[in-house]
Amino acid sequence: MPFSYERAKRELLEERAKLKQQLEQLEAAEYESIGYSNHMADDATDAFDQAVGVALKRKVEASLEEVERALAKFDNGTYGICEACGARIDRARLEVLPQAMYCLDCQARYEQSGTRTVSH
Ligand SMILES: [Zn+2]
Repeated sequence: MPFSYERAKRELLEERAKLKQQLEQLEAAEYESIGYSNHMADDATDAFDQAVGVALKRKVEASLEEVERALAKFDNGTYGICEACGARIDRARLEVLPQAMYCLDCQARYEQSGTRTVSH
């Protein structure tokens, strides 16, 4: 199927729904682990599970934020444009990563410098 903005948008909407669902599940698991954390023997495991849960939740939240940000660009007409240099992002790249914020060149530069997000 060839790349189209409609398709990218649809994928982003699907991704958003999926991430929201994941977040809800993580929150439910978090709530449950609070209720059952009184068992002494399980404390170490619970603490570990919670740490993993928190890390995972942060990751899902970050992804959700990226997807929301990409979706907002459809409204202001800047979707598919690199946030750093203003160049059009390669369609093949958007096909693989519809929420891409930077063109390949900029992304590579930021990954090299060790930061993923850039402030303007
Ligand atoms: Zn760029």
